[in-house]
Amino acid sequence: MSDALLSVRGLRSGYGPVEVLRGIDLDIAPGEIVALLGSNGAGKTTFNQTVSALLPARAGSICFDGRDITRAHYREVVARGLIHVPEGRRIFPNLSVLENLVLGAFARGRAQRAVNLERVFDIFPRLRERTAQVAGTLSGGEQQMLAIGRGLMGEPRLLILDEPSLGLSPRLVEELFGLIARLHAQGLAILLVEQNVAQSLEIAQRACVMENGAIRFSGTGAELLASDRLRQAYLGV
Ligand code: ATP
Repeated sequence: MSDALLSVRGLRSGYGPVEVLRGIDLDIAPGEIVALLGSNGAGKTTFNQTVSALLPARAGSICFDGRDITRAHYREVVARGLIHVPEGRRIFPNLSVLENLVLGAFARGRAQRAVNLERVFDIFPRLRERTAQVAGTLSGGEQQMLAIGRGLMGEPRLLILDEPSLGLSPRLVEELFGLIARLHAQGLAILLVEQNVAQSLEIAQRACVMENGAIRFSGTGAELLASDRLRQAYLGV
């Protein structure tokens, strides 16, 4: 029995006739930040969607906190604390900031929702000022805060962040990495898919490189950077 928070073995999935994931093995320990790297089309988003039950696994297993969730419904996965903040923000643009946040806590009771809301407002004071604003009119950076805030409303134990810095100004990217460090310090495990490779490697305890639907490398950021082949082939640096 592994003591990993997330333990994925031989995971396969895809779209129709297209097989994307060809047998992924990946573990994340409690409280660990893992950077998932790989070129465009490697399968990172497909992996995130499969692990968070948005896409069915075709083979292999996904265990979270000692339970097999391979065939679990999305709601159960979220309720257990495996929460995915998807690429491209995917907030509900016609709903208010508050409504978006409350939806993130659908698996929690009313009292817990209020506690979580306060916590999210403490992290993102800007959202507190804008509770009634229609989410689609927020700036790009504010929408990203909202997407992460909505994820935090569900009380994650593992937060999957898919390209959270996309489209953010350099200052907001700094803020985002500061936030990730704070969440990690509070004990949250994070799977981070980021185009900011250098910054991700700095903050992550471990990096995995995905290529063509399989994990080609798993190790520390320093080990990854020490390999010319990996640096050039997967990171373009
Ligand atoms: P990027 O860094 O560009 O976001 P990625 O590593 O996240 O890439 P995925 O989005 O998982 O890669 O895509 C992996 C492969 O699956 C790609 O070849 C892509 O074209 C294909 N794919 C993704 N979504 C679908 C879909 N809905 N239907 C068919 N093929 C898809």
